[in-house]
Amino acid sequence: MKLGSWEMERHEHQFESIVGHDILKKLAKRFVESGTLPNAMILHGPSGLGKKSFAYALAKFINCTGERGLLACECPACRKIAHQTYIDLMLLKPEGPARTIRIEKIRELQDSALITPVEGKKKIVLGFDVERMSLGAANSILKILEEPPRHLITILTTNNLHNLLPTIRSRCMLLRFSPLPVKELKEWLVMSHKISEKSAEMAAVLSEGHPGPALDIARGELQKRRENMAQELEMLEKHGFAAIFRVAHGIATGSKDLATAMSDLLVWYRDLLVLRLVPENKDLLINRDMAESLTKIADRYTPQGLYDSCRSLLERQFLTQRIVPTNLALLVILNDIGMFLKKS
Ligand SMILES: [Zn+2]
Repeated sequence: MKLGSWEMERHEHQFESIVGHDILKKLAKRFVESGTLPNAMILHGPSGLGKKSFAYALAKFINCTGERGLLACECPACRKIAHQTYIDLMLLKPEGPARTIRIEKIRELQDSALITPVEGKKKIVLGFDVERMSLGAANSILKILEEPPRHLITILTTNNLHNLLPTIRSRCMLLRFSPLPVKELKEWLVMSHKISEKSAEMAAVLSEGHPGPALDIARGELQKRRENMAQELEMLEKHGFAAIFRVAHGIATGSKDLATAMSDLLVWYRDLLVLRLVPENKDLLINRDMAESLTKIADRYTPQGLYDSCRSLLERQFLTQRIVPTNLALLVILNDIGMFLKKS
């Protein structure tokens, strides 16, 4: 049985199962069909928009031996790419605790990139989150991009285009991914995911048009993360700095990545600040359903302490673009917040 698109892993997608990005899909298909596909592309834009799914879908579209573009093509190429067992598919992604793409990986890739495809029409490199390449790795991949073998197609994704070397950017065709209109996202949640109109609307608005986060919200992932964070922050309040390592680890474990953890923390302290400044306007809260418990927590702190905590989270956003383990970054952030709130 074929899974519904809400249960699909990124590598299982075809263009037809990805929501939105119609112009990019059309463009990519035309390139392939007319034999004018560039040797290297960078899919860029904020996370949660479907860039990785798109990269897999494109890899399938290039090498499909069945009826191209079928929702669930079962040709050997599409099937093997979905199972990541396709000989002519090479994957690059951040690894290890620091989540980096290391030069050794690129060297391996350089060697096998030269060999002509065994199974497919083209040999394909899918490189994910490539802003996390070390400088050495970036320089090595540049060599492949400078003189690509004719049989090689390199598809890279990044959430931060400007963290890539300009020389890499200039050798690739850039495809920019933008958030989806709220209406389109809402309809997709209702139609493909059987989510109620009301929840779909809320998820589409809260996620600001990002399908990945919208699904998290609609499925209650956000709820789980929020509960975990609330418990950990309560622990910090109770035991002070003695508990900070544990709490940083707890929040990191409960969050998908640093950006998600920081965004949850920012919403949390922003809501507390709203409650201290305009307690009568509960409709301004983002975590509206938690108004009662948040009011009790807000009373412990001064508006200045909460304001400084929010400001510090915003000022430290740059950490999400650095190669740093989530729990260590959170340690620094919680240390700041702890100091600001202690003064409260
Ligand atoms: Zn196929």
